[in-house]
Amino acid sequence: MAGGINAAIVPCIKCVGRAVRAYEGLETDGYECSECGHQFLIDWSHGGPPQKACWPLSEEEAKEARRIIELINEKR
Ligand SMILES: [Zn+2]
Repeated sequence: MAGGINAAIVPCIKCVGRAVRAYEGLETDGYECSECGHQFLIDWSHGGPPQKACWPLSEEEAKEARRIIELINEKR
């Protein structure tokens, strides 16, 4: 159990939509976005499991997440 109960649903790293955990590993969990279908992995071994639920995001958190994703995409 990598991310634990608080990491069962996380924001999609592509569209900040609702991504549900599809695979649970020792350090890494796999997710699939229910909005855009994007599949991705999150490695929880560095920061440890989240202390609070990753979903739902507040409006402020969603805005910040979209800003970070835009920054990442610009660098590519
Ligand atoms: Zn998505």
